[in-house]
Amino acid sequence: MNATVSRFVILSPIGSFDADILCAVEKMVVRGLGLPCRIQTLFDDIDFAWDARRGQFHSTAILEKLAEQAPPDTLRVLALTTRDLFIPILTHVYGEAQLGGISCIVSTCRLDDGISAACQRRRYLARIVKESAHELGHTFNLRHCKDNQCLMHYCRSISDVDHKQGRLCRYCNVMFGDGLKAWVFARCLRPSV
Ligand SMILES: [Zn+2]
Ligand SMILES: [Zn+2]
Repeated sequence: MNATVSRFVILSPIGSFDADILCAVEKMVVRGLGLPCRIQTLFDDIDFAWDARRGQFHSTAILEKLAEQAPPDTLRVLALTTRDLFIPILTHVYGEAQLGGISCIVSTCRLDDGISAACQRRRYLARIVKESAHELGHTFNLRHCKDNQCLMHYCRSISDVDHKQGRLCRYCNVMFGDGLKAWVFARCLRPSV
């Protein structure tokens, strides 16, 4: 039996999201990464992370609260928000993750750039899925990858997001497997919860 079965990637929407978005991200977690997934909102209010000077939300503060509020059966928490996120050194971020940690977040705020027609919905969903997989990858210790087709490539612009494929390169795929094994191994050394 897979040792991760008793733990879930908690997909935590902050605010309301259309079902097709949640469904697409859930599918990526379950089929793409092979991990159990559950949709569960941990909290809805992120005013504590609001920065009035910048008019944006500080994603690192949200990551800390997600980690604090994660239920005991959490493997990772992936939050989704429509709000614009930043970290101090950048004008905005599409998402942020705790490297090798428990929580990550993706903002859909800028992922609809250049999309006006409903027929481009698939493209929009693909962007959200790619950035969600990217942030989850960081929580399994994956770092940025030079391969601009790889999910772990750092995207400066929306065209970078569109350009990358919905998969990890061979190197990152091996690293992801190692990250998962390290988690299972560490868990085996602890009494089960
Ligand atoms: Zn990244
Ligand atoms: Zn890669």
